[in-house]
Amino acid sequence: MIPSGIGVKGNRETMEFQRQKLSRRVLNDLKKRSTSGVFFYMLIPPLIFLTDNFFQRHLRFSLGFLGVFSFICLFRLLHMYVSKKMPKQYEPVNTSIFISSVMLTALSWGVGSAYFLLHSQEQTLQTLMLICTVGFVAGGVLSFMPLLYLAVAYNVLMLLPSIAAVFVNGDLPTLGFAMILYSAYLVLITLRGNAEYWKALENENLLEEKSRELEKASRTDVLTGLYNRRYFDELFELEWGLSSRRKTPLTLLICDIDHFKQVNDTYGHQAGDAYLKLISSHLQGVFQRETDVVARYGGEEFVVLLPDRDAEQTRDLAERFRKNIAEAVLEYQGEKIQATISTGISSCIPGSDMTRDAFLTRADNVLYEAKASGRNRTVVDKQ
Ligand code: GH3
Ligand code: MG
Ligand code: MG
Repeated sequence: MIPSGIGVKGNRETMEFQRQKLSRRVLNDLKKRSTSGVFFYMLIPPLIFLTDNFFQRHLRFSLGFLGVFSFICLFRLLHMYVSKKMPKQYEPVNTSIFISSVMLTALSWGVGSAYFLLHSQEQTLQTLMLICTVGFVAGGVLSFMPLLYLAVAYNVLMLLPSIAAVFVNGDLPTLGFAMILYSAYLVLITLRGNAEYWKALENENLLEEKSRELEKASRTDVLTGLYNRRYFDELFELEWGLSSRRKTPLTLLICDIDHFKQVNDTYGHQAGDAYLKLISSHLQGVFQRETDVVARYGGEEFVVLLPDRDAEQTRDLAERFRKNIAEAVLEYQGEKIQATISTGISSCIPGSDMTRDAFLTRADNVLYEAKASGRNRTVVDKQ
């Protein structure tokens, strides 16, 4: 359904996902654009058939034509309603049904109106039918413009039989030629409108992608790729509320690199940056649960928020992390950089007896204890 020029980017899976999303979007657009037309398709033809008693004079044809046409229209409305409620796996079938029923609408109208033109000898009726056909084609082409082949097929299936009937009648060949030109004109409009539709869709897609990127950038720390402090604060507030309602423990870990200033002073700021990246990858390696919130709190301080975990469980993880760091050696431009970290852990079940700030201060205090008692250690809040 998607033209090859449309910007669907990414790896194969995301491309496939985007393709499906786009196809769904286009199909929905087609349905929305064409639904109101179906009601007019059911209302207008009976009016033409009632003019000058055509209905009584050609009873079998009138009943057959109006019956078949109304049935197709009702089927389309019903299918639109039912397909919305069906699971995604039926989408390809529903798309085929939708497209076939649209083509069938055009074909049945095209053939029926041609028969009408051939069998009603009165000019008023013929004019009415032609005006109606021309109007239906214009409306259909506008509605189905997003799908080039459908719009062109609609145009041809509806107009061609009438054009043929005009030539067979033989009295107004110039009208036949005018209708051919009209059909060609509609194809040109379709081409232009189709290109504009897809360009607008591509721009919309691009805009969505950019705003997603921006949103991601606004919550990510540029150097380490971890969440930044702003986003951590948001999540902290959220988790605090959740744990408070569920009465489940929430644990906060703060860690700080020991004597990091010396690392910068000895090896340079760039080396310090590389070391911060090393720390963050180790942090992510140890705190892997989907609910663990790992963030760079600022400078050389990192925080981890662990919903549903108590202090003792967190201490084990923190110790593993501390040992990993103590053993890790960063090779940077021929230099071997090694440092340690100190960690403070505090845990609580959020409630009215404690505020978030107080909780943070407690974690900070035990971190200070870890520093004061010699660094390279993990201290858990005893309260
Ligand atoms: P302590 O063990 O008491 O924590 O000592 P420290 O030297 O780590 O603490 P201090 O607060 O004196 O120094 C923190 C250092 O962290 C100073 C600053 O240059 C460095 N730092 C903060 N942010 C960055 C950064 O983004 N990149 C680099 N390379 N260094 C940073
Ligand atoms: Mg610090
Ligand atoms: Mg430090």
